[in-house]
Amino acid sequence: MGQLDGTVAVITGGASGMGLASAQRFVAEDARVVIADLNVEAGERAVAELGSAARFIRCDVSVEADVASTVSLAVEAFGRLDVMFNNAGIGGAFGPITEIDVDDWDATFGVLVRSVFLGTKYAARVMIEQGDGGSIINTASVAGQSGGNGPQAYSAAKAAVINLSQTTALELAAHHIRVNAICPGLIFTPLMHAGDEAHAEGLMRELQPWPERGEGSDIAGAALWLAGPDSRFVSGESITVDGAITAAGTRLF
Ligand code: NAD
Repeated sequence: MGQLDGTVAVITGGASGMGLASAQRFVAEDARVVIADLNVEAGERAVAELGSAARFIRCDVSVEADVASTVSLAVEAFGRLDVMFNNAGIGGAFGPITEIDVDDWDATFGVLVRSVFLGTKYAARVMIEQGDGGSIINTASVAGQSGGNGPQAYSAAKAAVINLSQTTALELAAHHIRVNAICPGLIFTPLMHAGDEAHAEGLMRELQPWPERGEGSDIAGAALWLAGPDSRFVSGESITVDGAITAAGTRLF
């Protein structure tokens, strides 16, 4: 029996990178998973490989109706919801603070922060009704932990995700619903390498003490622990998964 036998999870951004790796790991551990993503082609490919334990729904995580439908699908298809992994993300607004467009700023916060609010809102409703707890996992970033690790909108949004994880952990503790953030460092995904794999490899070698690159599966391992019973007493926490970048005090940006 796998570590997540009987568990139903929603994973946003589950069509690629660390979300896809988490969907694969969760299903290998006997969970049933709803992958919610904007990328229909990649999402459908993922569930075709994962078989009857997985469903795909096209979802824009910044749109309330889409997130509500995603949570409803988990309950309709698999009967319940135990784990909400709010993971989808983008790099977002980029450039000098004096030039950033307000719409770009707001869109960045829509995908990175409103998404976590909405995922928490709809998942917690179901979990409270079920009455037997749950685990909400939010992908933040080392960029949200200090000023030197990412562009302004992205970093501020990820700091908001860390704080939202803490405040909702307090609010939902009485229902045995745990809320935690994962703070990845440099993880080799399409978002990180943006098609230039050689440049990304070089960046990792230069900035990261750990000799091998971080993979989506490294985040999936942390998410598996936060999803399962071994982390029963862990809530309101941020788990840093970064190959010792934070320990080194390295500036990434
Ligand atoms: P990725 O690009 O491989 O995967 C992100 C997924 O999110 C994609 O499938 C994409 O289609 C989906 N997505 C984007 N916008 C969406 C939206 N509005 N609605 C639904 N789905 C949407 O990237 P990844 O590296 O796996 O990123 C996952 C999370 O990890 C993100 O929140 C990202 O900010 C965070 N993160 C990544 C790194 C890194 O080094 N890769 C580091 C720290 C944090």
